[in-house]
Amino acid sequence: MSSVTLPDLTPDCTSCAALCCVAYPFEKGDGFAIDKDVGTPCPNLSKDDFRCTIHATLAKRGFGGCVSYDCAGAGQRVTQEFFEGENWRDVRLLRRDMTDALHLMRPVHEALLLLVEAKKTLPLPPSETAQCDRLISALCPTDANSMHRFTEPDVQDALEYVPIFLRSLSPFA
Ligand code: SF4
Repeated sequence: MSSVTLPDLTPDCTSCAALCCVAYPFEKGDGFAIDKDVGTPCPNLSKDDFRCTIHATLAKRGFGGCVSYDCAGAGQRVTQEFFEGENWRDVRLLRRDMTDALHLMRPVHEALLLLVEAKKTLPLPPSETAQCDRLISALCPTDANSMHRFTEPDVQDALEYVPIFLRSLSPFA
């Protein structure tokens, strides 16, 4: 896997425009205390910045779904790399685009995280290691100047194959 530059796969909420708090819908129930539509800012978001006003008490207040959420670093990448630090509050029209972007990029980052973990923790034979590297490369296209590159078939085909490949590694787990 010589020329692949992995993106940051750890969420950095301080570099993000709280995209998960906008992009995902909530359904009142076990994980969330309220209903919320896709692409709608959570009412618990601060009006002054992109912080959660109930972060310290999320689980107690019925938002355990937020506690267990992990964007695998897709949020700050979308905000900083693909929208150059812009945000949906200053430019309202971006709300839809940033929502779509997180929906596109989170599965890519999640898959990368799983592949990297598999490589690091499982005693994989060379053929599986090579396949792992091929998938990681496909999910990190070197010519990705915009997020639209990630909608192309080579990336999406790799993404679709990742769960099948990971299941095939169960004998090494
Ligand atoms: S999308 Fe990721 S980086 Fe952004 S606020 Fe949510 S968890 Fe944090």
